Amino acid sequence: MKYHIITLGCQMNKSDSERVRTVVEGMGYEWTGNEEEASLLGILACSVRQKSIDKVYSRIARWNNWKSSRSLITFVSGCVLPADREKFLKSFDLVFDMTELPDLPDMIRQYGVVSQTAVKSVAVSPRKEKIREFWMVQPTHVSDYEAFIPIQNGCDKFCTFCAVPYTRGREISRPSKEILDELKQVVEKGYRSITLLGQNVNSYGLDKQGAELNFPGLLKAVGEYGRISGKGFWVYFTSPHPRDMSDEVLETVAKYDCLAKQIHLPLQSGDDKVLIRMNRKHTMGDYKRIISSIRRILPNATLFTDIIVGFTGETDEQFENTRRAMEEIRFNMAYIAIYSPRPGAASSRWKDDIPMAVKKMRLHHLTDELTAHSLQYNHNLVGKRVKVLVTGPDRKPGFVSGITEGRIVVRFASRHPVSPGTFILLEITSAAPYSLEGEPVNKLIGVPELS
Ligand code: SF4
Repeated sequence: MKYHIITLGCQMNKSDSERVRTVVEGMGYEWTGNEEEASLLGILACSVRQKSIDKVYSRIARWNNWKSSRSLITFVSGCVLPADREKFLKSFDLVFDMTELPDLPDMIRQYGVVSQTAVKSVAVSPRKEKIREFWMVQPTHVSDYEAFIPIQNGCDKFCTFCAVPYTRGREISRPSKEILDELKQVVEKGYRSITLLGQNVNSYGLDKQGAELNFPGLLKAVGEYGRISGKGFWVYFTSPHPRDMSDEVLETVAKYDCLAKQIHLPLQSGDDKVLIRMNRKHTMGDYKRIISSIRRILPNATLFTDIIVGFTGETDEQFENTRRAMEEIRFNMAYIAIYSPRPGAASSRWKDDIPMAVKKMRLHHLTDELTAHSLQYNHNLVGKRVKVLVTGPDRKPGFVSGITEGRIVVRFASRHPVSPGTFILLEITSAAPYSLEGEPVNKLIGVPELS
């Protein structure tokens, strides 16, 4: 019996799929990369983007065609709006909320039986218990060097362009003990890049009203484990919200070696009026104050962000404020998205009034800004020695790829394969806008392992 899962969307869906794999493999299914030989086919959907929903429908149409010639069970889960769950029931055998994952074996055994929560939105109190059971499932990691640890589910922020509060519900923080236990397990197994995941990661603990650690407290506990264990690993967190970013978080990151000096802080727009319509509830003044705290407390940290161009009603002047913010802040990386209405999100009811040609031009301008800043930053690293975590063979033949602590991609030539998860010391020899090239520092002993 073989299975295949297609994962759409963000890191949270990828992390969820690692737990789905565990449950399915516990039933005796084996992974196959070839969906044509699978008898269990699933999709972890992302209904925050119409493109992803279109992919779900085209895939299930194909799978349902195969059913006339062989036995096949199909399922869909992930970030799914309640309205989409009802529609998916017409095409998939099983539709379930991720919190129901522990019940998946029973659903497969009696396939076609769909739980009540799959079709209704999940009620608050059972959902809390269900998500606890979901977190107890051990993930089956797909990477050799990188692990994701969910620390929270859902979001209370209700940004107008986003459907997450409707697909995942309100924020629930995972008990810190479970998070720390999972962290110790993945470090013991040899994972060296670990990301604490949540839709709104730095509001961790606020739903427990003092009965749980807050986010800086959680980071301190992670940092203390890193210090005491003496193991080399880097811990990242994503995505934080500017509203909940405090100096205490930054000071904690500064204090511990295992807390990676890289901050991802979504900007979304550099204009106050657009920020109000996005319901971000912070101003550019607030954002810039956080940036200056990052520069002061973590002077070597790289800075990543998310930006939306062409949000409904965004004028040329408002866009120019975003471009100026990029020029001033000089991000190392920005994930720039062209605005498209997301079904279920508040702004999907507003007119999507910026022509695509204008959106593309704005994207182009911001990409040019980003490229220039990133290249300049990378140039300044030439001649310096940096610690690099090997991630695997590079696309360039004879080269190995890795990342710096600040998540800048670095490649180096190696006559021998180097295991993912190995730390090496490189001297940077050249820079490109989004990557570096380097040479191992101690050529006499080949590629030196640092930990
Ligand atoms: S903070 Fe805003 S963008 Fe992020 S998940 Fe919550 S609603 Fe969506």
